[in-house]
Amino acid sequence: MARYVRDFSEGDKDQKDLLGGKGANLAEMTRLGLPVPPGFTITTEACRAYMRTGEVPPELRVEVTMAVRHLEDTLGRRLGDFHEPLLVSVRSGAKFSMPGMMETVLNVGLNDASVQGLASLSGDERFAWDSYRRLVQMFGRTVLGIDADLFADALDKAKAARGVSADVDLDAADLRGLVDTYKQIVRDESGREFPQHPREQLDLAIVAVLDSWGTERARLYRRKERIPDDLGTAVNVCTMVFGNLGPTSGTGVAFTRDPATGRTGDYGDYLVNAQGEDVVAGIRNTLSLADLEGVDPAAYAELRQAMRRLETHYRDLCDIEFTIERGKLWMLQTRVGKRTAPAAFRIACQLVDEHLITMDEALARVSGAQLSQLLFPQFAADVAGAELLTRAMPASPGAAVGQVVLDPARAEEWAAQGRDVVLVRRETNPDDLGGMIAAVGVLTARGGKTSHAAVVARGMGRTCVVGAEELVIDTEAGTVTARGRTVHEGDVVALDGTTGEVFVGDVPVVPSPVSRYLEDGLDVALAEAADEETRDLVRAVDRILTHADTVRRLRVHANADTAADAGRARRLGAQGIGLCRTEHMFLGERRVLVERVVLASDDAGRQAALDALLPLQRADFVELLEAMDGLPTTIRLIDPPLHEFLPDLTALSVKVAVDRERGHVDPDDERLLAAVERMHEANPMLGLRGVRLGLVVPGLFDLQVRAICEAVADRIAAGGSPHAEVMVPLVGSVQELRIVRERALATMAQVGADRGVPLTLPVGCMIELPRAALTAGRIAEEAEFFSFGTNDLTQTTWGFSRDDVEGAFFAQYTANGVLAVSPFETIDVRGVGRLVEVAVAEGRATRPGIGLGVCGEHGGDPESIRFFHGAGLDYVSCSPFRVPIARLEAGRAAV
Ligand code: ADP
Ligand code: MG
Ligand code: MG
Repeated sequence: MARYVRDFSEGDKDQKDLLGGKGANLAEMTRLGLPVPPGFTITTEACRAYMRTGEVPPELRVEVTMAVRHLEDTLGRRLGDFHEPLLVSVRSGAKFSMPGMMETVLNVGLNDASVQGLASLSGDERFAWDSYRRLVQMFGRTVLGIDADLFADALDKAKAARGVSADVDLDAADLRGLVDTYKQIVRDESGREFPQHPREQLDLAIVAVLDSWGTERARLYRRKERIPDDLGTAVNVCTMVFGNLGPTSGTGVAFTRDPATGRTGDYGDYLVNAQGEDVVAGIRNTLSLADLEGVDPAAYAELRQAMRRLETHYRDLCDIEFTIERGKLWMLQTRVGKRTAPAAFRIACQLVDEHLITMDEALARVSGAQLSQLLFPQFAADVAGAELLTRAMPASPGAAVGQVVLDPARAEEWAAQGRDVVLVRRETNPDDLGGMIAAVGVLTARGGKTSHAAVVARGMGRTCVVGAEELVIDTEAGTVTARGRTVHEGDVVALDGTTGEVFVGDVPVVPSPVSRYLEDGLDVALAEAADEETRDLVRAVDRILTHADTVRRLRVHANADTAADAGRARRLGAQGIGLCRTEHMFLGERRVLVERVVLASDDAGRQAALDALLPLQRADFVELLEAMDGLPTTIRLIDPPLHEFLPDLTALSVKVAVDRERGHVDPDDERLLAAVERMHEANPMLGLRGVRLGLVVPGLFDLQVRAICEAVADRIAAGGSPHAEVMVPLVGSVQELRIVRERALATMAQVGADRGVPLTLPVGCMIELPRAALTAGRIAEEAEFFSFGTNDLTQTTWGFSRDDVEGAFFAQYTANGVLAVSPFETIDVRGVGRLVEVAVAEGRATRPGIGLGVCGEHGGDPESIRFFHGAGLDYVSCSPFRVPIARLEAGRAAV
């Protein structure tokens, strides 16, 4: 068998690695007996050899000769023949489709002689010259790299000279003149003649397709889509058939179902008397497939049949490129079609109902990313009338309408008054978090899709548009200006996080029907749906999600700090709280008490402050446990450095200095300043925080554990079923945990005795330091469960400070290929994932029934969930609004 060339009749659809997607599917259609013009595929192996050596492998030239001879013999026509010329197309086709990235040359084999042959063979001189001018044009652009506008301008001039507006109105003589003009352009621009020898045309076109794999834009596209650079493309050489042979010919694209809405029934565009890309280029108005039925019922019927055949064969939505040459149908391409999120869900269920696929397969055909698209609010009406302020990078989808605010603190203030606000910032940083949480949308002038604003907004499900460079933000004046339009703080803008558009004024938004379904149930969503299509979508999501719930092994918990969040998470299907952070319980008016704990000069003073905090904390936990009644609720003891709860060092220094100047300083301020100075750390995230804080500041963890225990006792007394678990953060050594655990057990025993209920709350720890993962076997002696804190574990494994690296640094790192994706977004399986695996294995070896979960953003990331499923964890925990996505992805991981 030849090494580098395969006839279309040799391959099949499963050989995409070798033949590329287009080649494999052309082979499959040939095998099915569909009318595919004969041809052959040059394999991706040839491309890889070419990339390695920079030379076309010599065997390839020989094999191409054999394959062309075979084609010529089969068809009884010769490449470049004066009487009966064979023409071919040279088409790229990689394993993964890269729309618009790669090259195709049509009508290869035409020259000054064979154009005559084509004219007499077809009896249509105009057609022959039209084909020739297309070859020179495509060859000039693709192979010789000449600016496409030069050819387009010449075509426009020719039309203008004749006073016609459509290219079909040019006659043979016009087109013949155009060929001369085009050849002159080739001469002027490339310094060479348009090659007359057909084999030279063919060889140059093949090399051009091979080269198109390595272009900058193709590389960029692959990086974005995470397609490896070393796959290479195949090259398909396919006998030409002609859609530009007069009114009984044409070319079109078709889908077996509507890829935009998922509606059943075929769907497509057809252009009479046209070739190649004319349809998508939109040069003339196209006909619908229904119109085609009127024009050519026989060809239409055959097409319908072929489409049905393909859909049954692939058991999925197919998209198709076809050409009709004088009433004869030819199939030029097919593949499983791309589709929108609603179409994906609807079509998957349709195919189940048509008994073409199983529910497991339906589940595999939708994704968490698609589900998340269905959850964002939508602009209610079309936005055609709205005034565009700017258009930038869509970073997090959705539709947000609110008043412009330029300051995060004010955003919180206004939001607290019940106003919807859009936070507009040059860029955001971790200090803006409160404002971002308060806002319905975030707009920044700087940064890309991995900027702080983008990442945080996606994580929270906030609509976000970033990198609106034309925005001029004047915080002094409180204005935002772009395109000559100035918007003041308080004015309303509308952000479309799917398109990146920003409008001035109100564009009404509504919650999506699917989020209605998730929040309020199927009946409400169906009752409120605007139309039957929407009801169909809601039903499809319900069916697939329900199936995911039945097949998944991973439980899905939520990260929720308040009863309100917990309740929401529960409505969305959370089966527990995987992470309740307790930090927020030390803010607001409780700050004063924290200050007193820190400032206490003796044990009694400290204990008094702690005692004052106790009832407040207990009340928080009672509410939370009530919301999560019957479900596991993992409460993490205080994690961040204590100074985060104290006043800012600079601000306090200034205040004290000013007071001194005035002659009166509050002694409390002096002591506070001394304490803040004492606690100042160069690198607080690696400093006195987590379990370290608990061991160093007496009474702090005791207070929290007591509050939890008392809340549990209260809930039991109220007839509830609380399942609180105590989680210790930032453990690096088993000794740390041992001390904390012994004290916790003592507190449990004491509260249990006082309240007359036995309390046995599980105590476990976060695994978020490499040392914890590597000594997990020992830590498991003291831990009843592990929760992988993969955010910190990623920071500490890589030595990246998350808050600092995600801006320009990561943008560079992804641009130059060091990182395919931010390790904070998708777990770094090789490094961080390995630590997880080590800890799972060691933890289970010590304590076979040890509970294993993950909290942190990776718990809601599809690819990471797949990894956690494989690693054998019991649950993932993610933010409440990602719970449905995690349910779906955990299901997909299991089928
Ligand atoms: P893309 O990958 O961009 O879709 P193709 O290789 O499919 O590029 O070529 C683009 C278009 O050129 C096709 O849709 C088809 O209309 C036309 N084409 C390609 N090969 C042939 C052929 N052998 N005969 C007629 N038209 C062809
Ligand atoms: Mg195509
Ligand atoms: Mg942490």
